[in-house]
Amino acid sequence: MKCTIENEPTWIEVNLSAVEDNTRYCMQLTRVPLMAVIKADAHGHGAVEVAKAALHAGASWLAVARFIEARALRQEGIDAPLLVLGMITPEDVDEAIHNNVTITLHSYEVADMLSGRARAVGKPANAHLKIDTGMGRLGVLSEQIVEFARYVEKNGDIRLDGLFSHFSMADFAEHPFTSTQIERFEKAVDALDQVGIKPPWIHIANSSATLTRPKARFTMTRAGQAILGLWPFEDTPPSNELRPAFSWKTSLASAKCLPKGWKIGYGQTYTLPEDQVIGVIPVGYGDGFRRAQGNEVIIDGYIAPVVGRICLDQTMVLLPKEYPLGTEIVLIGSQGNAAIDISDVAKRWNTDSVGVCTGIHHRVPRRYIYD
Ligand SMILES: *Cc1c(COP(=O)(O)O)cnc(C)c1O
Repeated sequence: MKCTIENEPTWIEVNLSAVEDNTRYCMQLTRVPLMAVIKADAHGHGAVEVAKAALHAGASWLAVARFIEARALRQEGIDAPLLVLGMITPEDVDEAIHNNVTITLHSYEVADMLSGRARAVGKPANAHLKIDTGMGRLGVLSEQIVEFARYVEKNGDIRLDGLFSHFSMADFAEHPFTSTQIERFEKAVDALDQVGIKPPWIHIANSSATLTRPKARFTMTRAGQAILGLWPFEDTPPSNELRPAFSWKTSLASAKCLPKGWKIGYGQTYTLPEDQVIGVIPVGYGDGFRRAQGNEVIIDGYIAPVVGRICLDQTMVLLPKEYPLGTEIVLIGSQGNAAIDISDVAKRWNTDSVGVCTGIHHRVPRRYIYD
């Protein structure tokens, strides 16, 4: 039983060895290069550290959702090829061109903006063309892709070195719509090929397709959840080839025996049925520990239920016995033979694993470990 008083009352532990192993696993499986998707601060794991680990393990590209995330990576000296998957504002385009950040080209408006700014800056804008094969989000429809690409060529000053699309149903392992999207994508890629547009980077596979859809591999896959060890499927149980990188820990603040009938916390939602040991942990909904039924923690290898309402900064738990100040407690992860998986927490919180780890606030420091 670990019992050291830590510098921080609560922290996230991110295992970068797991990120490296997961990255290598994806590439060994697909035999094509990998674009590591590290949007939303790598789902709360820390974009810079996860990016470095993924690149170290052999990832070729990085992707983020917004330009502000790309800027942060460039400022850290990360100069790997980098795609912004989402919107870029006109204000940010010049900086993107200067810093070799690749932009998602998904509309005539973006094409005009890129050509215009590239001409002004005196350097071509790097872009990957986004095709909407059935996500209904960003992208040009497959049937209009040739006309669009010709317009882009005619406009000039855009270096188109990728074509991509995104799945809407890939998180259901056998869903037939994923095959439909692959076919539409192939058709669009072929149509462009026939008019002489053959960019080197062709990618559609997210984590779930990276793991299970060989036909979706093309020249690169694009995975976020998988490199973090998050299982992307809603309808199949996790495989143990991927290792979760994320644990959430804290230290015990107090443990004391309270008498039968004593009531716990705001709203007095728990009354002791007998004398019990109640622990207090310095974690609350102000950290993203959500009020929900069935919350648990691990202490000394035992599962201990949360009792009473979660407070902003503190939470009460029912302990099997008294433990000293500083005893290590796990909210997500494992300790001894007990484990609380992110997916268990996701079910309790009515979200998915990504929702859990991106929802732990930045107030909780991230610590990085290797094993
Ligand atoms: C989030 C995202 C990904 C990565 O999805 P995972 O399921 O985390 O692998 C890939 N492509 C796009 C466009 C995305 O928005």
